[in-house]
Amino acid sequence: MLRRGRTQARRVKTIAEALAETIALFSPLASEDVAIEGALGRFLVDDVRAHVEVPPFDASLVDGYAVRAAAITVGTTLPVVGESRAGAAMPGALAAAAVMRVFTGAPVPEGADAVVMQEVVVREGGGARFEREVRVGAAIRRRGSDVALDGLLLPAGHTIDAGAIALLAGDGRPRARVHACPRVAIVTTGDELLAPGEPLRPGAIYDSNGSMLRALVETAGGGVTAIERARDDLGDTVRACERALVAADVVITAGGVSVGDHDLVHDALAALGVERRLWKVRMKPGKPLAVGVKDGVPVIGLPGNPVSAWVGFEVFVRPGLRRMLGDPRPYRRVVDVTLGASVRCSPDRTELARARLDAGLAWPMAKQGSSALASVASVDALLVLPEREGELAAGERVRAMLLDGRGSAQPPFA
Ligand code: AMP
Ligand code: MG
Repeated sequence: MLRRGRTQARRVKTIAEALAETIALFSPLASEDVAIEGALGRFLVDDVRAHVEVPPFDASLVDGYAVRAAAITVGTTLPVVGESRAGAAMPGALAAAAVMRVFTGAPVPEGADAVVMQEVVVREGGGARFEREVRVGAAIRRRGSDVALDGLLLPAGHTIDAGAIALLAGDGRPRARVHACPRVAIVTTGDELLAPGEPLRPGAIYDSNGSMLRALVETAGGGVTAIERARDDLGDTVRACERALVAADVVITAGGVSVGDHDLVHDALAALGVERRLWKVRMKPGKPLAVGVKDGVPVIGLPGNPVSAWVGFEVFVRPGLRRMLGDPRPYRRVVDVTLGASVRCSPDRTELARARLDAGLAWPMAKQGSSALASVASVDALLVLPEREGELAAGERVRAMLLDGRGSAQPPFA
């Protein structure tokens, strides 16, 4: 990565520009064959066509009697010959001038073309009396009516959710071909950082970014290979980033990407041959974000302030991980919302304000500072505030990037 001075002279990119450049560094990972139990949240590589018909035979929808519809009128009584129940051997054909006892899910015998539910049949000794007529096909689930042989069961790009697992299992498939899960290495930087659990000493703070980023990666569907903690020392930062680059599909660093004397991540990454693609984005929080690439591995340098790191992850890393997973809708969805309270804009940066959605309105969190970590707990949306002086008043409409729910194929920033 180049040293700071040169880039500062260039125009700082908008979020839309920076995101387009960043997302281009991520592409769907290779496929792997995974047991369906372990494939939850992954995305199918290929169309899946049905191996078996569902149901694989004409099946009864009810407990009752298999009949020839033409033989049944009001008051007909016929002998009950034989029985068909789920899981037993296939029944023989329906005898002439007879009906067969049949249960839900059981094969309908050859020769029968309807099933009558037992509630409307009167048993009389070995016979059954019918109280009404029945139409051909009544209460029968036709062979292949749910899933036809070789029919499209699930299209490529479909996510493995509970419904997809049911369809795959129902097709007799214990495994599925899905995109691999992105392996993410995290590097946190700072002499002030202590691992949670260590005794606090003067001037030190606990490393919240490491645990937070792990949770964000895992929630996005990725897996964390390592969390390296580097001191503000060039050699230490180089070694931590070098370890991170081994066996990772993505590297995320936190802190040390600003302009301070102890911000050494740029130099460490440059020393490792990471090619810098961008630095600084016209957004608030999270301006000093850096993006690079080494041998196809994207390296995202997030700012150290936990709120900035969180927002930077949401905007730049999460869609990248979703893309690696093969998600056709890797971005957060954007909707227009009405402000419940006023919110201050930034004149020269797009501000992403944390907000809760409640009672049909968006409520910006009171503390929007980039170190106000309390405001990232339980937020529903990031409001995309236009670059301008002053405030947006309560009642005004604003775009909101929703932090859960179904994704979008379109990036959230225009
Ligand atoms: P930096 O980007 O390294 O200048 O850090 C900006 C601010 O974020 C400083 O107040 C740091 O102490 C804080 N910070 C950096 N890394 C972490 C971390 N891993 N956990 C919590 N706070 C951090
Ligand atoms: Mg630092």
